[in-house]
Amino acid sequence: MTEYDADADAAREVRIADGYFPVETLGPGRRLVLWFQGCALACPGCMSRHTWDPAGGRTATVGQLLRLWEAALDRGAQGLTVSGGEPLAQPAALAALLRGADRLRRRGDGPRADLLVYTGHQPGEVPARVWSALTGADAVVTGRFRVTEPTDLVWRGSANQRLVPRTRLGAARYGPHLARVHSPGPRVALRTDGTAARVYGVPARGELRRLELGLAASGVRLRDPSWRG
Ligand code: SF4
Repeated sequence: MTEYDADADAAREVRIADGYFPVETLGPGRRLVLWFQGCALACPGCMSRHTWDPAGGRTATVGQLLRLWEAALDRGAQGLTVSGGEPLAQPAALAALLRGADRLRRRGDGPRADLLVYTGHQPGEVPARVWSALTGADAVVTGRFRVTEPTDLVWRGSANQRLVPRTRLGAARYGPHLARVHSPGPRVALRTDGTAARVYGVPARGELRRLELGLAASGVRLRDPSWRG
């Protein structure tokens, strides 16, 4: 695509695992988080094994996700985080989503919301045309989750993962956090809807176990948590 075609972008299908606003544990401020479905990287210790199956989750269009983004902006969203699963496994949809999200955030004259993407890949590991799907991101967190390399660095799950600002807005918003070990807010959040419990965020080592024990102590037992193989 050489020219921006909003209709073609909006019609593009994308497989997603979940979407929620507001999340305060995956980037600065209150954010819409979209979890892409499908990841072939299979990091040992991954807390999101339910996102691995590329046929799992549900199908949406980029246009539908952009309507969620627009609604989140109307409610004061300070950013969009795309996680997974592996967003680069659906590069065309990711690029279309970031293009549309950028256009929508330019409405109004308030502080601009930022766009953050998590990928388990590193530069050079995927073809350049795949990596270029990240072009619209203000910041990226790159690299596999390595359970053997725990870290307290905010928004990163293991010490090898890098938080990389890519734009001036990204540098302003994420620069102060590159070496920050304490989260400006909670590190994880638990949301329940009566049938399922979801953990949003990047837990510190042992935090999921402590969460399970705390829930068990109050009579709640998790069945098949997504961080167990
Ligand atoms: S930690 Fe991320 S990159 Fe690794 S298997 Fe899980 S979803 Fe995939």
